[in-house]
Amino acid sequence: MEIKVPLLDLKAQYRKIQDKIEPAVLEILRNQTCILGEPVKSFEEACAKYCKTSYAIGVTSGTDALILALLAIDIQPGDEVITTPYTFFSTAGSIYRLGARAVFVDIDPVTYNMNVQQIESVITAKTKAIMPVHLFGQCADMDAILTIAKKHHLAVIEDAAQAFAALYRGQFAGTIGEFGCFSFYPSKNLGGVGDGGMVMVKDPQLYDKIFKLRNHGCSHQYFHEMVGGNFRLDAIQAAALKVKLAYLEEWNQARRQNAADYIRLIQEAGLENIVKTPVACPECFHIYNQFVIRVERRDQLKAFLQEKGIGTAVYYPLPLHRQPCFRSWNYKEEEFPESNRASAETLALPIYPELTIEQKTYIVDRIREFYQRKS
Ligand SMILES: *Cc1c(COP(=O)(O)O)cnc(C)c1O
Repeated sequence: MEIKVPLLDLKAQYRKIQDKIEPAVLEILRNQTCILGEPVKSFEEACAKYCKTSYAIGVTSGTDALILALLAIDIQPGDEVITTPYTFFSTAGSIYRLGARAVFVDIDPVTYNMNVQQIESVITAKTKAIMPVHLFGQCADMDAILTIAKKHHLAVIEDAAQAFAALYRGQFAGTIGEFGCFSFYPSKNLGGVGDGGMVMVKDPQLYDKIFKLRNHGCSHQYFHEMVGGNFRLDAIQAAALKVKLAYLEEWNQARRQNAADYIRLIQEAGLENIVKTPVACPECFHIYNQFVIRVERRDQLKAFLQEKGIGTAVYYPLPLHRQPCFRSWNYKEEEFPESNRASAETLALPIYPELTIEQKTYIVDRIREFYQRKS
């Protein structure tokens, strides 16, 4: 029997919280408190409290959160920011946008996060920051990154877009470096009903700067200290997200349970040598924003699963050093071999919290069928 399993089922989540989200959104409409105000402020306070940090600033998107962090450290054309090429576009796109250069290091083949061993060798006089990405919901090696950053006086901007409430040695992702940048894009583990993002900071001066930059750099209306932009989080998003924040712990636990079930089912099917499952580091609390396996004949497996009604995704088919729009950075295709290999071999399986054991079993059964038939 065929069971349909989409990669993501946002309606399944919505049905469970509809009776809480709808009155919260209606309240905004009825009060017409549509820009900033109480809805945004109370969501920001709830996030800062949840992540045990000092300040959270609601912004338009995860991409803009990264741009704001770079603006806050006065990134100039020609400056360099060290990051990974195996990530969503925005990580390097935000750097490019400010005229700076993304200096890539390769990834660790097990965690897919930055290979911290390569960072020091690419630091130059122009380096201003390190931008680690907590890919797929697991934190990068922050101890090593902070040590290097301190030694070379670099800012650390965490791209925590995939890692809300992931932990590193008990600290929340996005509260470890100077800046934590989050996305509330609907597919993220904490997703809005549209676009949204957040910057978290600990330093009151950085807070003040980002707070102003978010709203055209003004200290009070029509008096501008600096040139920022319109980076304000929408009040309707804030209201919906505040409702969802109360469920986040439960959802993250469900994601972790799904991951544990997949790993067990894959072992029970005798597939552990064919399907490399994610490895959770002991110092990390992985929240599995994605569940990414590494396999041979990835594209064929993806097509086979699609035929069987199972949605999967490739994060990311073309590493950023090979993107046509970054041509001027002059990276060679064969650079960063682990990023290239991951792009060709990894596949994300459905991991959303509402996934049932029947669905997970069905998926692993179909993977087994594929490798039995065609090997
Ligand atoms: C989603 C994502 C972003 C961008 O977030 P948006 O809200 O879509 O702008 C940035 N970095 C990473 C790693 C992401 O996954």
